[in-house]
Amino acid sequence: MQATTITPTVDFERDGKQHGFLKLPYSSDQSAWGCIMIPVTVVKNGEGPTALLTGGNHGDEYEGITALFKLANRLEPEQVRGRVIIVPAMNYPAVRNGSRTSPIDKGNMNRSFPGNPAGSMTERIADYFNRYLVPMCDYAMDIHSGGKTLDFIPFSAAHRLPDPAQEAACIEGAKLFGAPNVVVMFELDTASLYDTAVESQGKVFVTTELCGGGTSSPETIALADQGVHNFLIFAGITRGDYRLPDTPPRLLDMPDGSCYMMSEHQGLLELCVSLGDRVSSGDLVARIHSLERTGQPPAEYRAKRDGILAGRRHPALIDIGDTFAVLAVEVDA
Ligand SMILES: [Zn+2]
Repeated sequence: MQATTITPTVDFERDGKQHGFLKLPYSSDQSAWGCIMIPVTVVKNGEGPTALLTGGNHGDEYEGITALFKLANRLEPEQVRGRVIIVPAMNYPAVRNGSRTSPIDKGNMNRSFPGNPAGSMTERIADYFNRYLVPMCDYAMDIHSGGKTLDFIPFSAAHRLPDPAQEAACIEGAKLFGAPNVVVMFELDTASLYDTAVESQGKVFVTTELCGGGTSSPETIALADQGVHNFLIFAGITRGDYRLPDTPPRLLDMPDGSCYMMSEHQGLLELCVSLGDRVSSGDLVARIHSLERTGQPPAEYRAKRDGILAGRRHPALIDIGDTFAVLAVEVDA
């Protein structure tokens, strides 16, 4: 496969702290010989494990972006054993545009792996992570939230993996993030995820969903700050005490696709349960009202399993095929 067109302005092997860019040539009407300049910080101090921390995989999920720009300012080499690579705005064009996907190519970073060095801008960034950055790391954390169209109870997450030792390490890392909930996630579309690219290279990987709606709050930023602090201790890179809540996290599982409730109607969404509420199989979860005329009975959607409402659609307008509720099942610790 051909080499990447991305050039880092930092030396990943050099001790010390460097702020720089991943430079991706992009010729456009605005800049004929221009580059996409993805900010990157490397903090390295001698031998030790490497952590790769990413935000802005989706451009409208602000907890990771904010927490990692803050960490890049704060973290110093003397606090580190090994190396921390921080990319707060992974899909940089999407972050600058405030959108989930890139305005250049409509690329959804988390559906673009393993990427392509000769492909679209989003595929080129994915390829650079897959073949250059991920192989450098032992631990990776990718901080997501719901973005403009989803909202979640705050949780850290891991996946079921073929290697039980790797799966256990990922779940342990997720528990030590410090979020009130830990979810073992079932994904609808695994193959093209960054998560899968990282996990298939044998790395310890933790991801999150920290609320959403296309904004952030003091509470969710505090969760992300705390999670980053804890993850570096978990990776053996920094020393210090974990910052954890008094109560251990609630463990949730998503066993299969029936956790996702998807609309077969277009109209106005009326959710009948709140985030974090318990629902039983058969309970009314949502009504979808016609916007075309009065006198129409709403479509009613009932839970097909018991669970906790872990995620919901954020906008009230809904189309056929939109996921409007995500149920997760409580697991005994
Ligand atoms: Zn996301």
